[in-house]
Amino acid sequence: MSMIKYGRCDICGKKTFHLKRRYYRYSFPCGCCGRDGHHEEVFYCEECKPEPRKWLRVVLDAETAKELDLLWNEKHNGSSNR
Ligand SMILES: [Zn+2]
Ligand SMILES: [Zn+2]
Repeated sequence: MSMIKYGRCDICGKKTFHLKRRYYRYSFPCGCCGRDGHHEEVFYCEECKPEPRKWLRVVLDAETAKELDLLWNEKHNGSSNR
């Protein structure tokens, strides 16, 4: 899977023939990538280290959103002993 590709580096914005690709995977299912979980492609040049995107566009179905909402509440609002 070591493909060489021409394009723009997502990190520094330079155009290069040595663009490499890295996937970042998220375990929740989405409407854009499928039930196996969301993933993001990041292209980077030889001088850059790949890093996950700061902003993601994800299509969620309502059920997944609800579940993520519950998990978020659990993590950030704690149990009701406050
Ligand atoms: Zn770069
Ligand atoms: Zn997705």
